[in-house]
Amino acid sequence: MRRPVIAGNWKMFKTQAEARAFVIALKPLVANSGYCDIVIGAPFTALAAAVDAARGSTIGIAAQNMHWEKEGAFTGEISTRMLVDAGCSYVILGHSERRQFFGETNYMVNQKIKAALDADLTPIVCVGELNSERQARLTERVLSQQFQEGFASLTAEQFSRIILAYEPVWAIGTGNTATPEMASEAHRLLRGLAVAMFSMERAAALRILYGGSVKPDNIKGLMAQVEIDGALVGGASLDANSFASIVNF
Ligand code: PEP
Repeated sequence: MRRPVIAGNWKMFKTQAEARAFVIALKPLVANSGYCDIVIGAPFTALAAAVDAARGSTIGIAAQNMHWEKEGAFTGEISTRMLVDAGCSYVILGHSERRQFFGETNYMVNQKIKAALDADLTPIVCVGELNSERQARLTERVLSQQFQEGFASLTAEQFSRIILAYEPVWAIGTGNTATPEMASEAHRLLRGLAVAMFSMERAAALRILYGGSVKPDNIKGLMAQVEIDGALVGGASLDANSFASIVNF
């Protein structure tokens, strides 16, 4: 039985005070949601405030990016040591916005995954196809390449500490959610890739979240699919009541 994960991705929203107020409001709303892991992906500047506000709850805090080097002359970058120091336990890696707008490649995602695991951070690794790729029937090829290059040379033990998120790019921030069946089909494909690259046992234990316009009114249908182990939520994670309704679907 895979333990579900409901994760929020705040993207470039919220100051420290806003992050603190959100977490304080969320805590009582999800106090009885022991069935799942709850994660909030905050911007770098609000990480410590979110961690502090989450004390005494089971809410884990994620960063939304990091650099793979331990330290050095990398202006504007953040290391795993800094994230751990801020109290993070997760990091979102390979989000499509980083791939699209900041030139992140599968190779870079792979380096980041290894560095995150070395620092005992849990990577939430995002993969997903563009609309044009789906229309051209390239979904399988794109997901396979992201998966195989992203997880290249990981040991099975390292792979067992990863959370995967299937986020079709055409569904992110658009209101066009993938149907539960479409998401399931992609999740099955990804699990098959995990069998081929690692083992049946590791693949069966892999938690695969769906992301792309998840809202309080569509989470139930998505979570009814055996292949869907949780959600990565963008827009609807910005409001504590809306995020809590997703957690408590
Ligand atoms: C995301 O940012 O990962 C995401 C899925 O966004 P939204 O829920 O707004 O589509």
